[in-house]
Amino acid sequence: MRRKAKEREKDLARQRIARLLRLADEVYPEEPKLGLQYGELARRLALRTKVKIPRRWRWRYCKECGSFLYPGINADVRVRSRRFPHLVIRCRICGGIRRIPYLREKRARRVLHR
Ligand SMILES: [Zn+2]
Repeated sequence: MRRKAKEREKDLARQRIARLLRLADEVYPEEPKLGLQYGELARRLALRTKVKIPRRWRWRYCKECGSFLYPGINADVRVRSRRFPHLVIRCRICGGIRRIPYLREKRARRVLHR
């Protein structure tokens, strides 16, 4: 019984996190500060409820400072293929750099443009 309640709680948290992240992306181009805040809310909720951030948004958090990034606003994204194909994401807030390997160009495009 208790276990079920926990699962339900997590399900609700997952839904709220996805909603917050979608909202963050919607407002980001117009109101970057608000977008950042929504991203932060989602991150805190995820930490508190031990729910994982959905895969499609995971790379959007800076590994160094934890900010929720939006390419073109507070992050630079470059596609590189030296040695292995990967995306380079640079956080403009702290300057942190992160490399994400990918297998096909198609997938990279999907990650970037959704
Ligand atoms: Zn950062």
